Amino acid sequence: MLGLMQTQPLLISSLIVHAERHGGDGEIVSRRVEGDIHRCTWTDVARRSRQVAGALDAAGLLFSDRVATLAWNGYRHLELYFGVSGSGRVLHTINPRLHPEQIAWIANHAEDQVLCFDATFLPIVQAIHAKCPGIRQYVLLCDSGKLPAGTGIPNLVAYEDWIGGQKTDYEWPTFDENSASSMCYTSGTTGNPKAALYSHRSTLLHAYAAALPDVMNLSARDSVLPVVPMFHVNAWGIPYSAALTGCKLVFPGPAMDGKSVYELMEAEKVTFAAGVPTVWQMLLGHLKPNNLRFSTLRRTVIGGSACPPAMIHAFREDYGVDVLHAWGMTEMSPLGTLCTLKNKHLELPPEEQMKLRLKQGRAIFGADMKIVGDDGQDLPWDGKTYGDLLVRGPWIIREYFKGEGGDPLVDGWFPTGDVATIDADGFMQITDRSKDVIKSGGEWISSIDIENIAMAHPAVQMAACVGMKHPKWDERPIVCVVRKQGAEVTREELLQFFEGKVAKWQVPDDVVFVESIPLGATGKMLKTKLREQLRDYKLPGA
Ligand code: ADP
Repeated sequence: MLGLMQTQPLLISSLIVHAERHGGDGEIVSRRVEGDIHRCTWTDVARRSRQVAGALDAAGLLFSDRVATLAWNGYRHLELYFGVSGSGRVLHTINPRLHPEQIAWIANHAEDQVLCFDATFLPIVQAIHAKCPGIRQYVLLCDSGKLPAGTGIPNLVAYEDWIGGQKTDYEWPTFDENSASSMCYTSGTTGNPKAALYSHRSTLLHAYAAALPDVMNLSARDSVLPVVPMFHVNAWGIPYSAALTGCKLVFPGPAMDGKSVYELMEAEKVTFAAGVPTVWQMLLGHLKPNNLRFSTLRRTVIGGSACPPAMIHAFREDYGVDVLHAWGMTEMSPLGTLCTLKNKHLELPPEEQMKLRLKQGRAIFGADMKIVGDDGQDLPWDGKTYGDLLVRGPWIIREYFKGEGGDPLVDGWFPTGDVATIDADGFMQITDRSKDVIKSGGEWISSIDIENIAMAHPAVQMAACVGMKHPKWDERPIVCVVRKQGAEVTREELLQFFEGKVAKWQVPDDVVFVESIPLGATGKMLKTKLREQLRDYKLPGA
């Protein structure tokens, strides 16, 4: 017997319809590429996303055709989120920090037909358009009459002209909720990038989950600043959850430096922000020397790579901001776990609570997880035993776009490539990415643990730990360190700093001071590149 409830499909268009009807006057504030601050409402975004849909119809785009973006976080990008997916096309957000060759490869692989881009990325588009014959319409996200002359880009139109003539009463189509809605390529540290192809259903379920109290706890009372880019994994789903809850959205545009982000947070009374650790490092770096405080910021989700304890501590103790450590990946839409304490943990002394907050957290309902050993058998949830982390759920991929890489699943579970422990309360902690873990004398050393300790030293701006070949131990850890401006610390002092914090055999063999650590397109440390830079490095005594 089937249930007798209604079966409206879960479609992205329903989010923008809801946002307009129930919170139409909610504000969307954007810092634009032009440098000014733009203000509009959910009603404006809804109206203009219908015009985007009309422009795509006029361009002859069919159901499931791909529309690419190379854009910062801003209101026009938000309109494309709803206009493209809502009308049944697939939004392909491209990471502009990738190499132009890679961008061209991705655009061709995705078979993009339209490319919408911010003026910042004009040089990229000039470099790639000849290599992307499938793109038949280029849209510069700019005001009418602001198209620069002589770009050499064919079929280029200003966004406001492109949507300006379209009617505002477009009817959103209804279709299968499992239809593709958007796509994102993984950074592809090995081999060619592969795409996760999200569906309307997966996106809506993820949007509900992301808003839950033990996840981002979003509500109509929040002013939300996603520093995490809309060009990578849909800004962790925040645009969708924002439409669902009717919160205010504040977009930083291209200005991600500490000063600009801080000023926007204060001016727009931001209560909640989300980003990767490297971005928050810049923000904290601006606050301290200028003796600044947050007036309204209460919570921040930090994820994408391990959040150093020193950062969680600084936010909580110095600024009264709750840090929610999160873990996920492109293939998971991206949220998998979030670290919020349970009621019984509130009784624990602060140091014990801190130990828990450092973990990546508990599984969100909808993202089931387990750890397994080399034999594929489940490992115990004792907080000590580590193994390969596998996940499954309705917003986790079952295969990559065009079947690249074959069947990724193992008995229906997606292997994350991360190594983790899970404790009896379900708190998962990432030990390392399986390719970054350091194997020394048959034992594993977590590069994250070593980096966290180094980052807690007051003179250290950034630290990256990598394994170096060793004739006896197989690999030994070294730590590459960027010193804070004007700060002094010697190799010996840093090595001493590890004493008592990890077992003796886990203390790195060396400290290498560097000017900077290479970052990838999503702001994560690029260890492959760092290892290349260290090609001629010799371990002391090896
Ligand atoms: P890519 O795979 O392209 O680098 P993703 O954004 O999909 O980009 O990265 C997912 C990976 O990032 C995870 O598998 C994990 O290794 C790492 N990661 C994400 N969040 C965290 C976190 N909070 N702590 C440690 N590692 C994290």
